[in-house]
Amino acid sequence: MAAGKTDPGMRRPNNEDAFLVADDLGLYLVADGLGGHPSGEVASALAVRTAAAVVREAGHTGAGAAVTDVLTGAVREANRAILAQDIRDDSGQGMATTLSVLLLEPGMAHVAHVGDCRIYRWRPGAPLRRLTRDHSQVQTLVDQGLLTEEQAVRHPWSHRLERVLGLEHDLAVDVTSEPREPADRFLLCSDGLVRVMGDEEIGSMLGLARDPAVLVERLVHLARERGAPDNVTVVVVFGDGGQPPCAG
Ligand code: CA
Repeated sequence: MAAGKTDPGMRRPNNEDAFLVADDLGLYLVADGLGGHPSGEVASALAVRTAAAVVREAGHTGAGAAVTDVLTGAVREANRAILAQDIRDDSGQGMATTLSVLLLEPGMAHVAHVGDCRIYRWRPGAPLRRLTRDHSQVQTLVDQGLLTEEQAVRHPWSHRLERVLGLEHDLAVDVTSEPREPADRFLLCSDGLVRVMGDEEIGSMLGLARDPAVLVERLVHLARERGAPDNVTVVVVFGDGGQPPCAG
């Protein structure tokens, strides 16, 4: 059971985020395009579409490749697709995007990630867990103990990314897999949500929610109430997201 919503926010004229919910595959993606109009929108949409197509194809052919290899290949294929397009914005800048992918299998959650969208896991009785690490300059400073999370969000360098799709062919992709439990809930979001909401609040809202569709509406509404300086995208997945309905 999953839902997603994207919103331009209160200050940006266009929306460069993209997301995709494919419950039949247990596949969920969020991307945050960079490079100005129109290239940012093109890059993020192309990234989610290309990566999802690779995962879908791998499932259909049943080639037996390890899931983590399929996910790495999917993100790299999205990177190639963006580089091949060479669309530029009004200032001549090329297009780029972040991309974060969650693939749920029975008992396992797999993540592939480049950039600063985030994937969180909520589990009853456990602290909210980030399954992704922001590939941003401020995250490196946080890791070194030089900034707090709160300072990082407000830092003038907070938009500077260390890794994105669309810059070079040799792309490093973070891929992780870990066991999941039926009660686990997942949230994918662009940095537009993180700029107006801390982990603690995200965790408590995930825990209290009854319906993913209601929760994504509420999160986007709250982000807008708080000024939403950037595009906001949220995808929420509840426990049995990877299972076909007939499996109960
Ligand atoms: Ca953004």
